[in-house]
Amino acid sequence: MTLEILHIDRARPYPPRVTAFTQHFWDSVAQGRLETTVCDDCGRFSFPPKPFCPHCWCTRTHWAELSGRGQLYSQTLIHAAPATFRDEAPYRVGIVDLNEGLRIATRVLSETTPGLDVPVQIVVLLYTDGPLFAARLSE
Ligand SMILES: [Zn+2]
Repeated sequence: MTLEILHIDRARPYPPRVTAFTQHFWDSVAQGRLETTVCDDCGRFSFPPKPFCPHCWCTRTHWAELSGRGQLYSQTLIHAAPATFRDEAPYRVGIVDLNEGLRIATRVLSETTPGLDVPVQIVVLLYTDGPLFAARLSE
């Protein structure tokens, strides 16, 4: 599944630190795919992606694509933002339960207060210096 890519005409206010391990994740996001690691032994997903399994401590994992779809578990609107994000305030953040059973924290794109448990989908925010991702309400 390819995620929708929204182009943002500025640099990311707080770009993620990319490592040799996370480079694959960010390259995939930039191409419209949300990927994470799956344990070769117990088969469970983890997010953010890790070079080991946090469930059984196996060090054999592989990359797998996620649907990018889920439900909004919780959300809040940030008015008093840290200095780095002050220009973007107010902005919404939330917790999303992805269909694959992962619970992730992410920015939530919504002009109005969304109800809880509403269906959401992950979208790519492609800034001038690289990608981030966010959730928005499914159509
Ligand atoms: Zn495992």
